[in-house]
Amino acid sequence: MESEVLREQGHIMVDFIADYYKNLEDSPQDFPVLSQVQPGYLRDMLPDSAPDHPETLKELLDDVSKKIIPGITHWQSPGYFAYYASSTSVAGFLGEMLNAGLSVVGFTWLTSPAATELEVIVLDWLAKLLQLPNDFLSTGNGGGVIQGTGCEAVLVVVLAARDKILKKVGKTSLPRLVVYATDQTHSSFRKACLIAGVHEENIRLLKTDASTNYGMPPESLEEAISSDLAHGFIPFFILATVGTTSSAAVDPLVPLGKTAKSYGIWMHVDAAYAGSACICPEFRKFIDGIENADSMNINAHKWLFANQTCSPLWVKDKYSLIDALKTNPEYLEYKVPKRDEVVNFKDWQISLSRRFRSLKLWMVLRLYGSENLRDFIRDHVNLAKKFEDYVAQDQRFEVVTTRYFSLVCFRLAPVGGDEDTCNEHNRELLATVNSTGKIFISHTALSGKFILRFAVGAPLTEERHVTEAWQTIKKLASKFNRNGNY
Ligand code: PLP
Repeated sequence: MESEVLREQGHIMVDFIADYYKNLEDSPQDFPVLSQVQPGYLRDMLPDSAPDHPETLKELLDDVSKKIIPGITHWQSPGYFAYYASSTSVAGFLGEMLNAGLSVVGFTWLTSPAATELEVIVLDWLAKLLQLPNDFLSTGNGGGVIQGTGCEAVLVVVLAARDKILKKVGKTSLPRLVVYATDQTHSSFRKACLIAGVHEENIRLLKTDASTNYGMPPESLEEAISSDLAHGFIPFFILATVGTTSSAAVDPLVPLGKTAKSYGIWMHVDAAYAGSACICPEFRKFIDGIENADSMNINAHKWLFANQTCSPLWVKDKYSLIDALKTNPEYLEYKVPKRDEVVNFKDWQISLSRRFRSLKLWMVLRLYGSENLRDFIRDHVNLAKKFEDYVAQDQRFEVVTTRYFSLVCFRLAPVGGDEDTCNEHNRELLATVNSTGKIFISHTALSGKFILRFAVGAPLTEERHVTEAWQTIKKLASKFNRNGNY
């Protein structure tokens, strides 16, 4: 790293990225939100092997413009409404830049004390913004750690809970361990359980439906646990979601937490998407009951403007995590402080190496302040409400679920109760809308129905973009003149 080369080329790169964001706003027609390239498109455009001699940054950036950008789906476009947003910000970007520049590997406290200590402090700050109980703060047995992704967060707590229960019941009881979630739970849960050795047939995905807006029915959980106990199984883990991936459903933490506590079962709250909204007092109610949970994660890269990737995870009992994940090779034994004197985050995660992610979270919190962050989130929710109103006013469409946050689930309504044709039409509408390149929306299935999802959260999105998106959808829907009803 030669500093003068970095200075010169770094400026060029920042200009390139700033122009990208400006162009996304000013010339959206040049940036189809959903990339329109075909599989394998890049192989024909790049040489078969790496160059023997250096090329210039200019040559490279030209290739980025001509060959890479066409293969980019523009998650930061104001017309991006698919899946959930991956929210960026200037502060988050600068934090990533500083992280890349310092490039430290803080796996133990010693390898960069600031990397560890800042993470502890910033996750305490964030826990306080979320009004998490003190048990989740670093001042007691709890604390936070930034995992790379939500999937990793769920995996490490399943491992921690598994080892905790096996310590009690004996390792040979692994085949009798059972876990509970719902048919709406993120797919990472099944993967985490299988990695942890939980038998596939012991993963209970409780059925949900429209009567609970696709949240977990507490009585189903009670029944499943009672039945499992009666059959000699060992219930040890409940995953409750606040803001499911499919429809932003919320599992009711208060009753679920009571059940978990009464049976001594570890309850984890996956609030990957909606957790960030809970820094607003009006949304905090969705994590009421968190006091009976053992752990919780949010994805700050989804809705807290912290750029990819940043998944804060809090646990009440850090020793469960450490007992499951610690490693102490000789080469890391140099000047190791006593167990409780410092945090060694290598023992709270799967990998050894780790990025200095707390920098960007710290910068986001400091450079915007919590009041602004709350307002950004509220803006997104209000824009979703605007879209929902458009849908509700058009009798060809219907809003399918009760909206809590910034996701609207909707569809072309069935004509004469014909669900099959309705599914087909919605599938076709989705493809047509996305092929315009103007906007990108995604879909899900709920109770066998093909549902369209409109998720607000890209930082450049304003009211006019939502209105334009609705105009696009509305216009393209006109082709479905089903049975002459429209
Ligand atoms: N949990 C929920 C509720 C999610 O919505 C997602 C991603 O959309 C995840 C977990 C997985 O998060 P990640 O992609 O960071 O692993």
